Amino acid sequence: MMVPTERVLHESIQVNALDLTDDVKRQKIANLLTQMRLSSATARKIQDIFRSEMNKGIHLQPSSLQMENTYIPELPDGTEEGLFLALDLGGTNFRVLLLELVNGVVVREDVKKYHIDAHLRTDSGIPLFEYLAECVSNFVISEGLQDVELPLGFTFSFPMIQHSLEIGILVTWTKSFNCPDVVNKDAVQLLKDALARRGDTRVKVVAVLNDTTGTLIQGATQDRHTAIGLILGTGSNACYLERADKVEHWEPERHGEREVIIDIEWGAFGDNGVLDFIKTEFDLENDANSLMVNSFTFEKYISGKYLGEIVRIILVRLMKDGLLFTRQTSESLLIPGSFITDYVSLIEQDTVDGCWLHTKEVLAKFHIVPDEEDIKIVQYVCEVASNRAALLVSICLATLLDHMEREEVTIAVDGSLYKHHPRLESWMNKYISLLTPARKFKLIHAQDGSGKGAAIVAAIALRIKSRLE
Ligand code: ADP
Ligand code: MG
Repeated sequence: MMVPTERVLHESIQVNALDLTDDVKRQKIANLLTQMRLSSATARKIQDIFRSEMNKGIHLQPSSLQMENTYIPELPDGTEEGLFLALDLGGTNFRVLLLELVNGVVVREDVKKYHIDAHLRTDSGIPLFEYLAECVSNFVISEGLQDVELPLGFTFSFPMIQHSLEIGILVTWTKSFNCPDVVNKDAVQLLKDALARRGDTRVKVVAVLNDTTGTLIQGATQDRHTAIGLILGTGSNACYLERADKVEHWEPERHGEREVIIDIEWGAFGDNGVLDFIKTEFDLENDANSLMVNSFTFEKYISGKYLGEIVRIILVRLMKDGLLFTRQTSESLLIPGSFITDYVSLIEQDTVDGCWLHTKEVLAKFHIVPDEEDIKIVQYVCEVASNRAALLVSICLATLLDHMEREEVTIAVDGSLYKHHPRLESWMNKYISLLTPARKFKLIHAQDGSGKGAAIVAAIALRIKSRLE
């Protein structure tokens, strides 16, 4: 017997039934997609596993969650002032930013985007970091600030092991980067060396962080209850404020810190097999088509880089089984990566509005002229895949809220998937509330944590330094 709250949870996490006139076809499709649907019991099981992996990670036991210490022991307090540089590497664009802070708020921002050639992303690290340093100098000189000492916060959104706030050892490259000789090296030192070799500016790298941490910090300037940072963009990751006494990995001397930001690195959740029981045949194919097979298991269920691909794989399967687009077949739909996550948002918008317009437009790109049933099926597939992503993210966030035991937590979120998908936010609000009814939380959108957040982290780093001197 299910207890009442579990029944409500179970019923609430279901998606609308597929409504087709052909009952046999409807049943076949529903059966094939059952594997994508999580029951409340499965949700609870994932919560237990996530809790256990977090605890293992924080106690330095083998775990798929790195639970990395960021050494950021305090949030902005409104005193941050001055000019700061931010370097953002690891997002869609490589950017250099100049930010002016007054009373902890960004009052001026100059940004320049730079292109990084494919060969720089995959050759030796030396030319890559030389290029980064060149872009920094170029930007600083164009601002006329070459003679000013400028603190820089380096947003390096890749998994790293941190020995301090300004030492970040690259664990592995992800996304489109792969310079083998940088792995196990300190990205900050490489940048400092390259800047020193040029010697044409007075830039001082004072902190390294990732986009998730920057998002939490930026969120904290918008809402003082912010204690979780979340990225739902190309990839996915989260960080949170942990009690300092619970954190075992802490290399420099402690100075009475009460809390510290922990970078969960949840994209890799399940890389040790603990989530295999939810892996569907579609996920296996998605993984096989990816750049780094057998890694970033959790990210592959949810993030922008993969959600469209999961939908594509399911649509192709239905097409091959003669359940979809029976009047024509589409060659271009067979190409991995062709169905981007932006399309999922568009089709989901139609479902929300009860119309077909975007769905038809998207399918036209694949030379498909759908009939009414095709449209319903495509919309259903997008709903099922999106809904699973929302539920998985909510499961981890609810577990995190329980773990943190705070009266009230604001979750600062950034990333285009979150921003543009029409239903993720409302599903997440609903599911987190159902999974942990007693916790008070709020989701806010923190704009550009990897830029603004980096400047604020640099200011915090200087404040900590001056206090210790
Ligand atoms: P990054 O994560 O690289 O810093 P973004 O947060 O802008 O950058 O995320 C970009 C990713 O978000 C794209 O790769 C794509 O997967 C996803 N995305 C972009 N636009 C949309 C959209 N309209 N709907 C859903 N996902 C989107
Ligand atoms: Mg980003």
